[in-house]
Amino acid sequence: MPVKKVNEGEAPPPYPVIDAEECKGCRRCISACPRQVLRLRAGINHRGVQPAEYLGCGCSGCGICFYNCPEPYVIRVETPEKTKSNA
Ligand code: SF4
Ligand code: SF4
Repeated sequence: MPVKKVNEGEAPPPYPVIDAEECKGCRRCISACPRQVLRLRAGINHRGVQPAEYLGCGCSGCGICFYNCPEPYVIRVETPEKTKSNA
């Protein structure tokens, strides 16, 4: 997964966090994401389904994926606070 470099003092970008072992692979989050930054992973989880995964960049932090997921606690969106620069 590509990692965006964050300059000191710059707020890290938001990103979704998916519990791959609990995801049912229903694709609702993938269909709903306006940035199209979610997809199904190539491999399967212990439930035998392909879980959703984040492409690694481009998330706006809108939370639409969270509101469209029927499974509690499977997907959440992290929106890191802006950090203070010591420079
Ligand atoms: S928070 Fe919005 S942009 Fe980010 S993955 Fe979820 S639906 Fe897509
Ligand atoms: S909506 Fe939820 S259960 Fe369905 S694929 Fe996305 S994260 Fe998995």
